[in-house]
Amino acid sequence: CGITGYIGYREAYPIVINGLKRLEYRGYDSAGVMMFDGNNIHLSKTKGKVSDLEVISNKEEKRKKGNIGIGHTRWATHGVPNDVNSHPHVSQSGDLVIVHNGIIENYDTLRKELISRGYTFHSDTDTEVLINLIEEVKKQEGCKLGKAVQLALNNVIGAYAIAVFDKTKPNEIVVARLGSPIAIGVGKDNTEFFVASDASPFIEYTKDAIYLEDEEMAIIKLGKGVNVRKINDDSLVDADVHKLKM
Ligand code: GLU
Repeated sequence: CGITGYIGYREAYPIVINGLKRLEYRGYDSAGVMMFDGNNIHLSKTKGKVSDLEVISNKEEKRKKGNIGIGHTRWATHGVPNDVNSHPHVSQSGDLVIVHNGIIENYDTLRKELISRGYTFHSDTDTEVLINLIEEVKKQEGCKLGKAVQLALNNVIGAYAIAVFDKTKPNEIVVARLGSPIAIGVGKDNTEFFVASDASPFIEYTKDAIYLEDEEMAIIKLGKGVNVRKINDDSLVDADVHKLKM
């Protein structure tokens, strides 16, 4: 299972798809990608291989358009491998999108709580619960995406690597890690960023990589940089930038 993502000035689709192919060694049963074209979110997802996903994307040009994308290969833990349970998952409002590797152990309690607050679920995944929890926290607190992700994760028991996108604030991607890896590739002058389970998807684009530690999250903002903080106590982390070799 794996995660890839891109935000910047290049076409995101080939970076995200080729990245997923490089992560295929990690094993998976389904694959999916979200592309944002500046106005709309386009989702392509399927049970099967990354090559099956490409067949779906190739049916419509708009599925491949845009400078922002996130991709996922799934190793099902909650819900059978099928198209609907494949990631990315979208929040009820349609604004927030997530890819997730790992398990949310208390998803059933959270799901019931969210249903009582008017949320409906389309998949059997723990991941769809997490993205709606983030949405609910954001609404309740009136906070930004980064804060909402942090508060939501503090209510979660489990393990995760996640990447979250908010179409109402399309200049950033928020990532977090507990138990599953996340690497961030930093482009020249903060004009582009890459996200992946390891650095192999972005090695030809940048040699500067930040590896999140467990219990860390990062708010990745175009033109600004990578803000790494602790999930539990909100303290800032002075993350090392590693120089990739090759
Ligand atoms: N628990 C999530 C699911 O079953 C993510 C699985 C994974 O690590 O890919 O959809």
